[in-house]
Amino acid sequence: MTGLSVKPDEPLTGISVDYLYIIYLYIIYIQGVPEFIHYRNTLYLHYQLEHPVCYRCEPLVSMGQLSHTLNRLGWTIPILPELDDLTVGGLVMGTGIETSSHIYGLFQHICQEFEVVTADGSVVTCSEKENSDLFYALPWSYGTLGFLVSVKIKIIPCKRFVKLDYHPVYSLDKAMELLTFESTREIPAEFVECLVFSKDKAVVMTGNMTDSCENLDRLNEIGTWHKPWFFKHVEGFLDSGPGSEVIPIRDYYHRHSRSIFWEMQDIIPFGNNVVFRYLFGWLIPPKVSLLKWTQGKAIKKLYEEHHVIQDMLVPIKDGLKSLEFFHDEVAVYPIWLCPFRLPDNPGMLRTSTGKEEMYLDIGVYGVPKEPFDCGKTIRRIEAFVKKVNGFQMLYADSYMTKAEFEAMFDHTLYKEMRTRYKCEKAFPETYEKVNKKARA
Ligand SMILES: Cc1cc2nc3c(=O)[nH]c(=O)nc-3n(C[C@H](O)[C@H](O)[C@H](O)COP(=O)(O)OP(=O)(O)OC[C@H]3O[C@@H](n4cnc5c(N)ncnc54)[C@H](O)[C@@H]3O)c2cc1C
Repeated sequence: MTGLSVKPDEPLTGISVDYLYIIYLYIIYIQGVPEFIHYRNTLYLHYQLEHPVCYRCEPLVSMGQLSHTLNRLGWTIPILPELDDLTVGGLVMGTGIETSSHIYGLFQHICQEFEVVTADGSVVTCSEKENSDLFYALPWSYGTLGFLVSVKIKIIPCKRFVKLDYHPVYSLDKAMELLTFESTREIPAEFVECLVFSKDKAVVMTGNMTDSCENLDRLNEIGTWHKPWFFKHVEGFLDSGPGSEVIPIRDYYHRHSRSIFWEMQDIIPFGNNVVFRYLFGWLIPPKVSLLKWTQGKAIKKLYEEHHVIQDMLVPIKDGLKSLEFFHDEVAVYPIWLCPFRLPDNPGMLRTSTGKEEMYLDIGVYGVPKEPFDCGKTIRRIEAFVKKVNGFQMLYADSYMTKAEFEAMFDHTLYKEMRTRYKCEKAFPETYEKVNKKARA
């Protein structure tokens, strides 16, 4: 048996290796990981002021590592999805979106080159100019065309802070009107986002990077462990009226990390209590993988049957209709709204018009109204999303049939690549990885 094996007259060096390891993990947890770990998996960073710039990394680099590495050097990637633990590989193979997506598109649209190990063990490099069909087929293939081993991503200069303006609105049409205006105007703000708190309350946020914070009263380091959860802070503007503040850029990027958007309120209902935050706020958020690993069967079943976690991507012109539909079906609040530009590139996501369009990510995470039949409700939602030419994010449980899935996502190029790179016997199809029944 291992453990603390200290006899009364023995010095503390008698602590066994296991305990030292636990203490080491504890220190890492509190103090953050040692510096070099942030650079692990980074292959190179190439930046010159007047030339195209890029960051090349292995797929395991997380958004937390990436912002830590780049932001202090005055650089960033144009789309930096919020949660610290999301990885470059997962965001390329699934998808990634952020509040700058109304300018830059989805995560795949800021990638310049992929290096992939295919089913026969060869390494293929692809970009817009080289093996472009594979380049366009990889995003949304969910790892079913090969193993991604490196990614070259565009980088842009960044500033120290984001000045964020909060605009409370008191109806869904006002929210959609303002959000559409802000995301499609000729020179939009760099960041646009909306949190909907009920059918008649929402806060639209617009932000721009800045290097100065003239009025220190307006500086809000929202990433600090004892600060209120971001969505709760935003909700406060519904009572106090419009406002603006300056947020350090990394705090802004990872603003939804501590409360995992608002999932933490169902896991630790008192987590935003001021006493809890000051005493234990540094422990939040737990790793999503740890939560899944420690979930018993009963909790898992309860979660599946009484909990929704879905991101649906719909044309922004159908945003209002979609929000009303979601309200009637599940009435889960808050709802995350994030507009994004969708070019009509070859691959899984094609717009119905054959031209670039502005889309909207509707993120619904939480406990739905009762009565709730998960399978039936999600199927109705999927049918609605298909009808408006929308898409379901792949990470969420899908209940579509294979034919419906292939009608939502264009499989023409994907199937061609599956044959060309001999994937049939090596990898399952995307549908088999995301569909609830096919996966079971
Ligand atoms: C709790 C939660 C919060 C989220 N929040 C956001 C958010 O804020 N913004 C956002 O844009 N999205 C968000 N998403 C969606 C997320 O972007 C997608 O689920 C994304 O695909 C997950 O990335 P990951 O690093 O967790 O990848 P994983 O879930 O680990 O992987 C996703 C898929 O990619 C494949 N894959 C991963 N690496 C490779 C590789 N090297 N080669 C081949 N295949 C590979 C995996 O096999 C898997 O099929 C969230 C999802 C969840 C569950």
